[in-house]
Amino acid sequence: MRFSTRAIHAGDELENRTGTVVVPIYQVSTFKQSQPDTGAGYVYSRTANPTRTALESCLASLEEADHALAFASGMAAITTLLLSLLNQGDHILAVEDLYGGTRRVFTRVMQNFGVESTYFDGTNLRDYEARFKPRTKIVWVETPTNPLLQIVDIAGVAKVAHSHNALVVVDNTFMSPYLQHPLRLGADIVVHSTTKYLGGHSDLIGGAVMLSDSKLYEKVQFAQNAAGAVPGPMDCWLVLRGIKTLAVRLERHCSNAKKVAEFLAGHVKVSRVIYPGLTSHPQHDLARKQMDDFGGMVSFHLKGGLHSWQELLKHLKVFTPAESLGGVESLIEHPSSMTHASVPKEERDRIGVTDSLIRVSVGIEDAEDLIADLSTALEHV
Ligand SMILES: *Cc1c(COP(=O)(O)O)cnc(C)c1O
Repeated sequence: MRFSTRAIHAGDELENRTGTVVVPIYQVSTFKQSQPDTGAGYVYSRTANPTRTALESCLASLEEADHALAFASGMAAITTLLLSLLNQGDHILAVEDLYGGTRRVFTRVMQNFGVESTYFDGTNLRDYEARFKPRTKIVWVETPTNPLLQIVDIAGVAKVAHSHNALVVVDNTFMSPYLQHPLRLGADIVVHSTTKYLGGHSDLIGGAVMLSDSKLYEKVQFAQNAAGAVPGPMDCWLVLRGIKTLAVRLERHCSNAKKVAEFLAGHVKVSRVIYPGLTSHPQHDLARKQMDDFGGMVSFHLKGGLHSWQELLKHLKVFTPAESLGGVESLIEHPSSMTHASVPKEERDRIGVTDSLIRVSVGIEDAEDLIADLSTALEHV
């Protein structure tokens, strides 16, 4: 079956006892142990819960993976994955323009257990080879990166990493499984913050790991149950509900983002727009090859820095200033003082996260209203 059909139906085959059209919320912690066992196999909801099983089945289907595991947050998914795959002395190679929380867990949690990490501009395939160490176990990729929306060549990275026996993990949160298929391109593991596009309504926190290697799956599943960072049934149900409209939402996110990017690119108060769908993006060709469309995230540089951002903010009515992304409503943020404030200023300036940079998560409102809102606010900048 195709994507939109799977988004709506994958997982519901598990729920045929009463004929409910949507999977119910199994708000329970423990299950009767029948003698003989009825075969449903549920014991205790940390280990498995039917609503979570339906979500995991759906997530696996969307990422074209044999297995998926759901977690209480994107960071819970990432941390559990690291704990299950790495040992003391192992090394992670990561692109530098990385989600801040991921970098924080690498440097401030995993480092305490003797796991090292190296960061570099992962956009040029020639830069990888020399950075591998004997114990590099994971190459960690985000693409497009956050907030600079640079594109990393997943298939190219997979080739180099596999020649060093390292696993490739792709954080596919910015694209969602609708727009980018890392496992098809050779990645080994996909992670998501389901808080973003998969949930899609800014009303839950969740995460997921998808993979096809059964041995690795058993390890991560063991850690999921052992460490216990699992989502509750209600949150699983909300993600399942969000996923049903993923395809139609993403269509609108992409078409709105393109219109917003084109509007900003022609504006005198804007010095540069970064959107993979614009031909001015330095990696537009790779983006076309690797992604089915260009997503809902747009970054741009305002002429005038911090003061201009503050003025812009005062006059916006539709865009909400907030962290996070991927919901139906448009959000706007200033990475250097918000999402990336914990990155030291010299490092921010070196990689291009300067005070003039603004990031927007373009929602699914009417594009005309989004453009009018930006247009009015920019007049005051
Ligand atoms: C939000 C986000 C995370 C973390 O997910 P939470 O659900 O907030 O824990 C990880 N990676 C990316 C790319 C994100 O945007």
